[in-house]
Amino acid sequence: MKTLKIIKKLFLLIFILFFIVQNANAANRSLSLALLYTNDIHGAIDASFAYYLNPEFPPKTGNLASIKTILNNYKTLIGSDTYLLLDAGDFFQGTPLSNLSKGEAVIDIFNELGYTAVCPGNHDFDMGFDNLKNLAKILKANLLCCNIFEEAANTIPEIFKPYIIQQIENLKIGIIGVITDDMPRLSSGQNIKGLKFINSAQAVSKYVDILKIIEKCDIIIVLSHLGFEEDKILASKVKGIDIIIGGHSHTGVRKIYNDPENHTLITQAFSKGGTLGNLTLIIDLDAKKILNFKHELISLFSDQFPPDKKILERIKYWKDKYEKGFDDVIGYTKYNLQKSSLESNLGNLICDALMHRYGVDVAFQNSGGIRAEIKKGNITLRDIFNVLPFDNEVMLLKMTGAELAEALEVSVLGTHGILQVGGVEMVFNPNAPRYKKVKSAKVKGQPIDKDKIYTVATNSYLIESEGATYAVFKGAQYIENTHDVLRDVVIDYIRQKKNIEVEIEGRIKTE
Ligand SMILES: [Zn+2]
Repeated sequence: MKTLKIIKKLFLLIFILFFIVQNANAANRSLSLALLYTNDIHGAIDASFAYYLNPEFPPKTGNLASIKTILNNYKTLIGSDTYLLLDAGDFFQGTPLSNLSKGEAVIDIFNELGYTAVCPGNHDFDMGFDNLKNLAKILKANLLCCNIFEEAANTIPEIFKPYIIQQIENLKIGIIGVITDDMPRLSSGQNIKGLKFINSAQAVSKYVDILKIIEKCDIIIVLSHLGFEEDKILASKVKGIDIIIGGHSHTGVRKIYNDPENHTLITQAFSKGGTLGNLTLIIDLDAKKILNFKHELISLFSDQFPPDKKILERIKYWKDKYEKGFDDVIGYTKYNLQKSSLESNLGNLICDALMHRYGVDVAFQNSGGIRAEIKKGNITLRDIFNVLPFDNEVMLLKMTGAELAEALEVSVLGTHGILQVGGVEMVFNPNAPRYKKVKSAKVKGQPIDKDKIYTVATNSYLIESEGATYAVFKGAQYIENTHDVLRDVVIDYIRQKKNIEVEIEGRIKTE
């Protein structure tokens, strides 16, 4: 009997030991994986100021050099076992440094940081598809996009992969890239010549199936340049996406969005390089399941994350190469030059420069093309580059009064920012029905004569972007491309005038 008791005890002991070992194993078999992400950097790789946090005393941000500091110390600063670094597009086009280097400076810093994957944004085509191909050659990260096809070959262009699979421990993580369905409307025709764009949800759905069924991926991430609202639609339409890391709408998603049905997590991290997103997944490696997650948008304050010296040196190299004379003063402004989705004094300044150079009756500038503001005081070349980063050219048009009246109605549709104007005074009612909002409109003090021909100056974006929005300009009876870059026209105007005193003067009023 005694031996039986001992054997029983021994069994119990073995059982307990086994249980402890099992549990110890289970506790060891989890992994914290940080998905670190940026979007819409728009060339802002260099240290900057967070005017959006405090317009008067903006805190300094270290941008990509501060991200490098976080990567160098991710175990202590992020607290994860490992990480992936991702970007959701519109990486260049927006600062002198990135524009004049045609994106090369941004790609160089991306390579230094060691991005895993990047998806292209609409603005990454602004210097043509050939330029993007050149950038893809030097980019070390995977360039992911599943819904762009070469029209002739009917295949995805060589520079893009529709997806990649990252193996981390025993996990297979599939990452798919996708770009906005609005490409034909957002890009100038020549920049996307020979390309066609497949419906984003259909394309993503196809690759989710491939990753799940054929590749047996455990986690699926979509790197999306669709915009936050479109990401929500994608998440509800396509089952099986665990995470969407988005861009395009410049949304700061502080509280992560969780699709109520498919439980897809959606996030995005503002724009212009001042923020790093961190979605850290706690994963059970045995069950291959996400157990929990932690999410934050990290403001890249320089004093908190001192910029990495090596990255600062690289950025200095590019600045020395491309930014000579950029801080020279070209004029002085009495007031803060601000943008607005209604009349803005910065919009007025741009239109005045067009009126002055070309002697036209009317000038138009789209509000969305004005990308920064200028503080009162000195104006530098850099300021103008920040305001007008796109290399749009000035177009001269002849339009009938009827066409002009239609253009003003298009301006106040409410689906996009208003057109900034020169030579026009208008009153509109935002609540009136579409195409009936303009209550009065005058050109040079006279009511618009429907049959009269007016001369108009505007920028090439309004003529060349496809889609119906600005079709009224494309339909004008006479269109001439001056091949003058709009930015240069504004620079010349400020250099001539020296002292700028432009105010909001009632060119656009609401009823
Ligand atoms: Zn975009």
